[in-house]
Amino acid sequence: MSSLSDNIARVRERIAAAAARTQRDADAVTLVAVTKTVDPARMAEARQAGITDFGENYFQEARDKLPQFGADIRWHFIGHLQTNKARYVAGRFTLVQSVDSMALAQELGKRATAAGTVQSVLLEVKLDAAATKFGVAPEQTEDLAGIVAETPGLALQGLMGMAPFADDPETARPHFARLRTLFERLPAAHRQVLSMGMTGDFETAIEEGATMVRIGSAIFGRRVP
Ligand SMILES: *Cc1c(COP(=O)(O)O)cnc(C)c1O
Repeated sequence: MSSLSDNIARVRERIAAAAARTQRDADAVTLVAVTKTVDPARMAEARQAGITDFGENYFQEARDKLPQFGADIRWHFIGHLQTNKARYVAGRFTLVQSVDSMALAQELGKRATAAGTVQSVLLEVKLDAAATKFGVAPEQTEDLAGIVAETPGLALQGLMGMAPFADDPETARPHFARLRTLFERLPAAHRQVLSMGMTGDFETAIEEGATMVRIGSAIFGRRVP
């Protein structure tokens, strides 16, 4: 089995090559290492190998892990977030990528304000019903973006989406192109992060304009559920 640092180096090379195809530098694309089910010792190893951004899906798991790391980690919440968990998440995560309702946005904004902070968020767009149960419908993205942009305590930074799982990454391309189109309709101030692309399709996502990719298995190996 290849080592974690080899895996990370290979992923970074692939990111750089895909970015180059869009005339961008590798550092125009942020690598978020997705650490759901990954134990903290392996995460510390990844940190040693240069990873600075961790993405967690599950509230309980994240709550256990966060206190085990220092302030040099940027945490991303990328899973479905129940409104009643917003209080914990607000202010602890650099970026909450999975805002998909007005209720969640308002609660997060309220909790962030109470914690004396501004929470950066992305809207999660449901690109394909088969890819995810959650996310705002593409047709409603602009409206929700307008509301979130006006919500005190929140800073809207952009959009996140997932393409349906497929063996051929080309299947993902039209979904990513659609997300980019929605992204380009946002006011410039909210067009900072376009989070799309996972292990199976991140090069396609970068070719379609991703500024952030979320990669789990290509770094940590296949997840044993
Ligand atoms: C699990 C997950 C990823 C990473 O998936 P891999 O295919 O292992 O790279 C990325 N984004 C989200 C939202 C996820 O849930």
